[in-house]
Formats: sequence, structure tokens, C-alpha cells
Amino acid sequence: MLDIQSIRADFPILHQEINGKPLVYFDNGATSQKPVVVIEAIEKYYKEINANIHRGVHHLSQVATDAYEEARLIVKNHINAAQLHEVIFTSGTTFGINLVANGFSQMLKEGDEVIVSHLEHHSNIVPWQFACERSGATLKVIPMNEKGELVMEAYDQLLTDRTKLVAVNHISNALGTINPIREIIDKAHKVGAAVLIDGAQAVPHIKPDVQELDCDFYVFSGHKMCAPTGSGILYGKEAWLNKLPPYQGGGEMIKEVTFEKTTYACLPHKFEAGTPNIEAGIVLGVAINYLNSIGFENIEAYEKELLKYATEKLQEMPGIIFYGTSTEKASVISFNFEGLHPYDVGAIIDKLGIAVRTGHHCAQPIMEYYKIPGTIRASFSFYNTKEEIDRMMDALKKAQSMLS
Ligand SMILES: *Cc1c(COP(=O)(O)O)cnc(C)c1O
Repeated sequence: MLDIQSIRADFPILHQEINGKPLVYFDNGATSQKPVVVIEAIEKYYKEINANIHRGVHHLSQVATDAYEEARLIVKNHINAAQLHEVIFTSGTTFGINLVANGFSQMLKEGDEVIVSHLEHHSNIVPWQFACERSGATLKVIPMNEKGELVMEAYDQLLTDRTKLVAVNHISNALGTINPIREIIDKAHKVGAAVLIDGAQAVPHIKPDVQELDCDFYVFSGHKMCAPTGSGILYGKEAWLNKLPPYQGGGEMIKEVTFEKTTYACLPHKFEAGTPNIEAGIVLGVAINYLNSIGFENIEAYEKELLKYATEKLQEMPGIIFYGTSTEKASVISFNFEGLHPYDVGAIIDKLGIAVRTGHHCAQPIMEYYKIPGTIRASFSFYNTKEEIDRMMDALKKAQSMLS
């Protein structure tokens, strides 16, 4: 079991008052808070290590390079990649998806098809629209049902030998649905399509095993898993990363440059042009070590408890409407109250110190499906407590009585 009080002591930001009330931070789906080990590692980097990597022969450059490459190894082990050079540092999920989509835009042709799902974040929709517009390929969408699950029979119908790539999220940020990605990946491979998994919302809650999943690409952001913004990972199978053209040109990604022809560096450097966010990359490794020291099994079990507790409490409220009621769910609850605008509720409970997200959560097609402007989304992390959920319930009751 988790010692929540000692975990909470690791997160300085949680111990403050907002509008005169103790902060209850339930916007973990947007970004996570950072533990002291992460904050101290950022400071240590700039106080003791800062230098550019892979370049100088001087001592600090070597120390920074070693720390950066050590972080790559931590990520490799964490996601169980087969090879170190299959782990590419990026600035986040959005960058990783754009990198892959840009590569595919040069490899797709008319008549080819790309499949996304109705449950995607905009960052796993728009880059594929770009790729299809540029290449003449067609974008297809796996539909969702009322419970916020993908309709797998429809997916079966969409898959043909024209399908070149399937891009779906592991966990929906707007609804919390955990998608059956093993099945999605296996079926796509049967028709010869590659699969990109958007793991942004999964990595804070579970430890992905990319070899076991057999996905071709897995992308995520560091900032949702206790690491700084500006850190992120693109995992790709070696064969795909070799096939994919480089995304950005510049320093670090070349083997040899002449005005006639440039040859590219090998993996992973082919996709790491320019000076990266060195500190964020190094500290991503620190954050992953921190999460593993707590243990993902513990995190999952505890967050499930929070989800169950909050769902039961919310169910008692009059006029509540839940969005996303799949049995396979992460600790994310999207809801509204009959007749009340989510923004109004969000604004009132903010005055009471409760931070939730209101709006479309960068997933407008889902809102369109339910014919709503947005939802109230409470997303829980392992550092949250049942007492905090009780405080949210009190605040919601107050909001409801004020607004009706
Ligand atoms: C947050 C999120 C993204 C975008 O991540 P960035 O860090 O903003 O690049 C993409 N997909 C999902 C499912 C997300 O939750």
C-alpha cells in the first residue's frame, strides 16, 4: 500500500492555499505536479552540469552527454524497447506524432488510408489530416459508442490492404477509456499497416511494454508523468525509424554535409536535430525512477480506488451525467450537471480551491458526439486522496445550489 502522506510531502506545490482554501489539484490529465527529486534535479543540472551534449570533448560536455544518454537508457528499460536507439527524445507527444505523420506524408500515396479514432486528442488528428492532404491519402475514423468505447466491429470493417497506418490513443484524455490496443495493433498488422499509439495519457498510470504490445510507434510527454514540460519520447521500431525520412534538418542529425548532398546520422540522432532540451531529457529519467520507486502496480491499484470512490460519490448527486462509462477506465471522470454549463461550475469550485478542467479537452469530436460544449473533468493522480474528493463533492454541491 502507498504511504500517501509521505508521497504528498514529496510535492511542495500541493501544500498551498488557493483563494484561501487548501489546493485540491484534480487536473492531472492536463499536467502532473513535480516531486522534490525532480525539482532538485533541474536545479542540480543548471548548477553543476549544464553544457551542450554530443559535441565538446571538455569535461562538462561529457558529463551532460552521459546524463542524457543515461536517461535514454532509463526510458528504454521502462518501456522495454528492444534497442536503445529506438528511443528518440522529443519535446512531447505533439512533436512525436508530427514527426511520424510528416514522414508518412512523404511515403503515402493516393488510394492509401490512415485510420484514427473518434476518441483522439486533436494532436492525433490534425497531423494525420496534414499527411492525408499532402499525400492524397484518405483519413478514416473508428467510431465510438455511448459508453465512450471504440466500436471494434466497425474497425474490422475499416481495415483493408489500403490501410497503411492506424493511430489511436492508449487512454482517452477526455473520457479515461482504456482502449484495447493489443487487439487494435494485431488486427492492423494482419493487413500490413503500421500502428502509432499515443501514450500521453497512459504513461502516468501504467507502464507500457512496447515489445509485448508490438506497436510500431509509441509516443508520450514527460510533463504528464512528473517530468518537466519540454520532455517527451518517440519510440519506434528500428526498421520503421530507418524507413522514415528525417523531420528537421540541422546540427546533430547529419553524418556529412556538403552543398551537393547531405547524409544523415544513424539512429537516434537522425531525429534529434539541434540542441535539445537537455535538462528536461535528463530529468525525465529522474521522474521515471521516482514513479518506479512508488511502483506502477501500487499507483494503478490506488488510483482505481480513487476512481471508484469518486464515481460512487458523484452518482449520488442529482442531475449528474457521466461521459465515458467504459468498464476499462483510468482515473479520469468526465461529467456535467443537467442544465448547468461546465465553465460556471468550474469557476465556482475554483474559488473553493478545487482545480478541475472544464471544456472540450482538445477532443472536440467527442463533445460533438455527445452534443455538449464540454465537460467537467476530474483526473486523479497517486498523490490525491479521498479527503480531497470529499472536498470536491462539497464544492460541487455549493456550485449546484448557487447555479440552480
Ligand atoms: C496531453 C495529450 C496529448 C498532447 O500532449 P502534449 O504534451 O501537449 O504534446 C496528446 N494526446 C493525449 C491523449 C493527451 O492526453
